[in-house]
Amino acid sequence: MAGFKEFNIRWSMVVDIDKCTGCGACMTACNKENNIAPQEEAKARLESKGFPTRFKKIEWLTIYELSNGKQGGDHDTAFLPRPCMQCGMPSCVSVCPAIATDKNEEGGIVSQIYPRCFGCRYCMASCPYHARVFNWDQPIFPEGMEKQLTPNVSVRSRGVVEKCNFCHHRLMYAKDAARVAGEDPEKLADGAYMPACAEACPTGAISFGDVKNPEHEVHELAKSPYAFRLLERLGTDPQVYYISKREWVRKQGDNYLESEGAAAHGGNGGGQHG
Ligand code: SF4
Ligand code: SF4
Repeated sequence: MAGFKEFNIRWSMVVDIDKCTGCGACMTACNKENNIAPQEEAKARLESKGFPTRFKKIEWLTIYELSNGKQGGDHDTAFLPRPCMQCGMPSCVSVCPAIATDKNEEGGIVSQIYPRCFGCRYCMASCPYHARVFNWDQPIFPEGMEKQLTPNVSVRSRGVVEKCNFCHHRLMYAKDAARVAGEDPEKLADGAYMPACAEACPTGAISFGDVKNPEHEVHELAKSPYAFRLLERLGTDPQVYYISKREWVRKQGDNYLESEGAAAHGGNGGGQHG
């Protein structure tokens, strides 16, 4: 895989799985913020054309339910919200023949440039997190909803791939606000830039900021001994961290095989950032 530069700012998300109740507020906020059309009509239209099995819901943030697999009183569940990991070594970028997706130098967010994408879906095949989705049809917004779309967020057309970009337009707003206030847009205060999911979470399970900046909360959170990243041993270097005090969650989250313990891989991998 091609090497990628390390940037001064590393916008990162830390999700405390033990605080997540699986309510779905983050997903709803994401759909609204990023102009994701309700899916029912598109699904019905595709099914009427004979494509029932190929339809995959357009979703930038998916919540997975985890279980410890035990019965009765020992049974335990957890919820794991999964956005795009904004990988430091993104396989999706390496494989794209159109340079339609790239690593943004203003914080390492992995972009998606819709007019360049011609829908080959190599990126989807290469992403180990299933974070990308393909538009099999035009988005259909119910009457009136098109008047409530978020400005500065493109509506995607049939034939292109899309994914979470940490609400990149909000980074642009935050930088503009800093410039107006006479502040340095490259040194945003903690909380000045916040994706919609983090803002909407009622339990405060999603924290967001520059993991390299000691003044941002995520800097310390990502160093927690209970922090881990998904499929870290693939070398993808995700910018999304998870925290759980429950060992079975950490093991499932890092996808260890039964025969392999965290110790065999040099610990849980938390806190590996600049
Ligand atoms: S589907 Fe689009 S973004 Fe993905 S690899 Fe092909 S051209 Fe690039
Ligand atoms: S999670 Fe998938 S889509 Fe996101 S940067 Fe990593 S490889 Fe690319």
